[in-house]
Amino acid sequence: MTTPVGVVESAVFRARHVFDGERLLTPGWVGVRADRITGVGEGVPPGALGAVRHFGEVTLAPGFVDLHCHGGGGAAFTDGPDAARTAAHVHHRHGTTTLVASLVSDELEQIEAQVRQLVPLVQADEVAGIHLEGPWLSAAQCGAHRRQVLADPDPAAVGQLIDAGAGAIAMVTLAPERLGAIAAVRSLVAAGVIAAVGHTDATYDETVVAIEAGAGVATHLFNAQRGLHHREPGPIMALLQDERVVIELIADGVHLHPSVVAFAAGVAAGRFVLVTDAMAAAGAPEGNYRLGPLAVRVTDGVARVVDSGAIAGSTLTLDRALRYAVQVVGLPLEDVLRAVTTTPARVLGRSDIGRLAVGAQADLVVLTDALQVEAVLRRGRWVDPVAGCDPADGGHRHSY
Ligand SMILES: [Zn+2]
Repeated sequence: MTTPVGVVESAVFRARHVFDGERLLTPGWVGVRADRITGVGEGVPPGALGAVRHFGEVTLAPGFVDLHCHGGGGAAFTDGPDAARTAAHVHHRHGTTTLVASLVSDELEQIEAQVRQLVPLVQADEVAGIHLEGPWLSAAQCGAHRRQVLADPDPAAVGQLIDAGAGAIAMVTLAPERLGAIAAVRSLVAAGVIAAVGHTDATYDETVVAIEAGAGVATHLFNAQRGLHHREPGPIMALLQDERVVIELIADGVHLHPSVVAFAAGVAAGRFVLVTDAMAAAGAPEGNYRLGPLAVRVTDGVARVVDSGAIAGSTLTLDRALRYAVQVVGLPLEDVLRAVTTTPARVLGRSDIGRLAVGAQADLVVLTDALQVEAVLRRGRWVDPVAGCDPADGGHRHSY
C-alpha cells in the first residue's frame, strides 16, 4: 500500500472490514470530509460522498483512545510541552489518536506546574486531558511512585490541582483507604473529573464505599493493588463485580498473565479498556530513563525502577496491546477493538471519538490482517508514516 499523506478533503475509503465501534462491517466503507466522518456502511458506498479509495484486505477502525499514558519516544508528559508533543506523536503513529496524559506522584507544586504546562495542549486537542496518578496513593502499593511524596488527599490540595487544571484534568487515581479519600472522590466527581481507584491497599468494603461515592475506573487492575484473598477480597473483587466500573488492563505480556487478561475481559465484558501506562521508553530505544523523579532502566522491553526493581510503567503502544490481546490471549477482535475505542471514549464522555459515525472526528486506523498499523488518520490528517524498520518500536523485540 502506498502510504497516504496530507489532509483528506472529501473521500470514501473502502476496505475488506470496517469496525464502526460496535461491529465489523464486511466489506465496509467510511466517508471522510476534512476532520469529520460523513458516513459509514456495509457493502457498496453511495456515489456522492467523494473520490473512492480502496484499501483492500485491511480493517479500518476508529482511532484508538488511551486513558493512561505517561510518555513515549524518549519523552514524558512531566517534561513540558515539547516533550509532551514528542510523546503524543509516537502514540499517534501507533494508532492512538486520543490520549490522556498521565502524571506520576510528586510534590504538589511540581504537579501543579506540570498541569499548568499541559493545559494549553488540552485546549488545542493535542492531548485529551490530564490524569493525576497520585499523589494520594498507598505507600504499601506505590509501585513506581516515590513513597515520600504520597499523601492523604486534603480538600485544599485537591481543589488546588483541579483549579490549576482549569477543566483539563480528566481523571485522578487515588487509594480509597487514605484519610479524606471518599470526600475527595465526591469533590472530583462534582467537578466533572473521573475518580479512579488504584495503587491501593483498600479492603473490599473500603473500595465499595469509593464506588458508591462515584469512583468509576479501576487503574491498571491487579497491578499495585492488594491481592485477592477469599476472606478479604480487597479492591480487585469489588472493582470487577460492579457493572459501573471500567477496568484498565495493561496487556503487554509483562504486567499480567494472559489468563488474567482473559479472566478480567470475561468478567468485565464491555467495560474493560486496554491502556498502555507507557513511560518514555515506549517507541524508543532501551536504556536509562526517568519516570518523574525516579531513575528507570529498560531491558528487554521491561521498564524497572533502578532502586526498587518495581515495574515502572510499560513500553507499550496500543497497537501492540491489541495484538497481544487478540493473538496471545485469544480474545475476539471486536471485543478488543471496543476496549481501545468505544469503551475508553465512553469513559471520557466523548461521543465524537472512538467510533465511526456521521459527525464523529475523522480518526482512522488502517490495520493489516496481522493487526499491524499501516496508516493513521487523526482529525482528518494522515499521521507521518512509521518508516521502514519501524524505529517507533525502538529496540524492543516482540513476537506480537
Ligand atoms: Zn500506576
